[in-house]
Amino acid sequence: MLQHRCLHHPIREAAARCPECRQFFCRECVTEHEGRVICTSCLKKLTKPLAKRRFTFAPFLRTLNALVGLVVATLCFYVLGQVLLRVPTDFHEGTLWERQVFDEPPNP
Ligand SMILES: [Zn+2]
Ligand SMILES: [Zn+2]
Repeated sequence: MLQHRCLHHPIREAAARCPECRQFFCRECVTEHEGRVICTSCLKKLTKPLAKRRFTFAPFLRTLNALVGLVVATLCFYVLGQVLLRVPTDFHEGTLWERQVFDEPPNP
């Protein structure tokens, strides 16, 4: 007589076998998870790391997002500063030259 019994309830007949730990369990000790029937301890093992990963991953992403935003902002300001440092000299010369020509009276 090789009837499988539940790991937690030796007097009960096994209703399902957990594909994770390969142990036999009764109907009460197994639950359906993503289309598979697994035991509760394996369900905890499977769901805990996921929740933990999701929990630690979100702040990391948020920090990364903030960092990227900061770097982009700094880069933008740097480039803008460089452009503003280079452009005005030409601009002022141009406007000064134009103004000189413009301000010159047509008939002296
Ligand atoms: Zn299991
Ligand atoms: Zn059981």
